[in-house]
Amino acid sequence: MTVSLIRVTENAERLIEEAGRTCYQSFDKADDTSHERLIKVLIKSGHDSVLEHAAATFVISGVSRALTHQLVRHRIASYSQKSQRYCKEGQFEYVIPDKLKELGGNTLDLYNKLMAEIQCTYDSLMQAGLKAEDARFVLPNACTTEIVVTMNFRALRHFFHERLAPTAQWEIRQVASEMYDLLTAVAPTVFSLSDKLKLSGKEESL
Ligand SMILES: Cc1cc2nc3c(=O)[nH]c(=O)nc-3n(C[C@H](O)[C@H](O)[C@H](O)COP(=O)(O)OP(=O)(O)OC[C@H]3O[C@@H](n4cnc5c(N)ncnc54)[C@H](O)[C@@H]3O)c2cc1C
Repeated sequence: MTVSLIRVTENAERLIEEAGRTCYQSFDKADDTSHERLIKVLIKSGHDSVLEHAAATFVISGVSRALTHQLVRHRIASYSQKSQRYCKEGQFEYVIPDKLKELGGNTLDLYNKLMAEIQCTYDSLMQAGLKAEDARFVLPNACTTEIVVTMNFRALRHFFHERLAPTAQWEIRQVASEMYDLLTAVAPTVFSLSDKLKLSGKEESL
């Protein structure tokens, strides 16, 4: 799995401050660190719409289609995903869940064998003249993919609220965790480490 932050609004937290201060006409209160104070107040008071002025774009690759199916349920976002209509899966790669790797032995063999059989069937269907858009019907959820996602900061906070939680599925939790860390580096007030620990249910480890 690779998660890269390829674009983010320049001076995102300053932009959020500027938008917030427009509401209160409080530009005279701006100083070197005032964006941190104001953003904390905005978030605490639920004035979340101001966060929508900043956005980030990620490339996520080497993840399963099971993962992206969950990701694209988040509607306040834009997506571009590798197509299984236009890109042939000549040698598809697949995700092996850690729990399955731990089981190993025959169970892991069974899984790998099935993936190899699926590849053979896919190739045979293609050789028989089926288009990739139809041959792909045999491909598994485990098949890896690549997706570009753009979300604004408000939508991202909502995404993290749902997908960093201990109740979320492991693969999307991992992706969310990497996305969060990348954002903490550029917008540490909106995406603070303490919030991440709270959302991940790890607050007590501090
Ligand atoms: C632990 C977990 C288990 C899940 N299990 C399942 C499952 O078994 N089956 C399943 O189908 N899904 C499941 N989901 C997906 C879930 O139902 C949501 O589709 C997904 O998490 C996206 O959340 P969202 O709609 O809040 O986000 P977004 O689509 O990004 O929307 C963000 C917010 O905008 C508002 N909004 C967006 N669209 C509308 C609208 N049409 N009307 C009103 N308000 C709107 C809402 O406030 C929403 O919270 C699961 C999610 C989690 C985290």
